[in-house]
Amino acid sequence: MKGFEYLQLELDAMKKEGTFRQLVPLESEQGSKVIVKGKEVIQLSSNNYLGLTSHPRLRQAALDAVEKYGAGTGSVRTIAGTFTMHNELERKLAEFKHTEAALVFQSGFTTNQGVLSAILSTEDVVISDELNHASIIDGIRLTKAARKVYKHVDMIDLEKALIETQSFRKRLIVTDGIFSMDGNIAPLPEIVELAEKYDALIMVDDAHASGVLGKNGRGTVNHFGLDGRVHIQVGTLSKAIGVLGGYVASTKSLVDYLIHKGRPFLFSTSHPPAVTMACMESIDVLIEESELIDRLWENTNFFKNGLKQLGFKTGISETPITPVLVGDEALAHQFSDKLLEYGVFAQGIAFPTVAKGLARVRTIVTAQHSQEELQEALRAFEKAGTALGII
Ligand SMILES: *Cc1c(COP(=O)(O)O)cnc(C)c1O
Repeated sequence: MKGFEYLQLELDAMKKEGTFRQLVPLESEQGSKVIVKGKEVIQLSSNNYLGLTSHPRLRQAALDAVEKYGAGTGSVRTIAGTFTMHNELERKLAEFKHTEAALVFQSGFTTNQGVLSAILSTEDVVISDELNHASIIDGIRLTKAARKVYKHVDMIDLEKALIETQSFRKRLIVTDGIFSMDGNIAPLPEIVELAEKYDALIMVDDAHASGVLGKNGRGTVNHFGLDGRVHIQVGTLSKAIGVLGGYVASTKSLVDYLIHKGRPFLFSTSHPPAVTMACMESIDVLIEESELIDRLWENTNFFKNGLKQLGFKTGISETPITPVLVGDEALAHQFSDKLLEYGVFAQGIAFPTVAKGLARVRTIVTAQHSQEELQEALRAFEKAGTALGII
């Protein structure tokens, strides 16, 4: 069919630059090892931090939910798609996050879009870290509020933005809790201090911190002892929680407001029973099996130290997200391909996901990896890194 030649031109240019990527289909369940093109490889690219995607308790909860309630819900939440289990999951999340209330959205992505587009108007301003997740950036695009972007985790620049915006009705500071490409943690105590000094609201997106940081994986707010001082906590149910969805944990008034104005909540169908029940089970697992988080951190330290000892540049990561920086875009993809040859699945990440010249292979270890698997992965990194002149 004719008509998309202009898109094909761009794709051809990407192929020439070596930045065109094929999707890599997995032929097994998600785990510390996965099957790619018939070959078992060590998985270092998932967000399955605690291995919960295939936890027996989650599997069973999903199966029971399908048996009892079927495959779908047949409606948006506000018409006939709220089941008691949806409310129960929200109660559980609010209790877990130590907030008054919580509201679940279809994904973390739609949570950011729904919250940001709903709560700000032309009288307000949103102040955002320059490396915030794409879903925050898109959420901001949907607001009518004024925008300010501050330099990455730069508190002097944030304070400058706060000083310049004192005439607005509301100022909302937005930040990732853990930054998804570099694995560094937002300086939340300083952000809270500035927000309190200048009477601004704070929204933290803890997609990568839920299940990873804080007591039982409660996130960055709890990690820093800031319960009750951050207005909006966004979380995802799709990463460490192991299923699918996003949520906002905040006050009852914010949640009530979003039930009336959060567009993805209002106009998109609610989660199927299997998703909701598995998410609920997952929160129980976080509380009852905290050794999973301990193992995640042991593995993180082991693997990070191993990469450093081999001479790789791992940037400023403080979490299980460890980027292996190579700089050149095509080289990052070659590195990733080479690693796959040697039995490791670790994706190359380049512009526009990260800035030009900061291409990398990004790794995330999980609680599921054994020390032997991580040792084997380090050997593959050594071989591939040497072959390509990276180390
Ligand atoms: C992954 C991620 C999201 C999106 O979450 P999904 O549930 O996968 O849609 C949002 N924000 C951040 C910071 C993320 O890393």
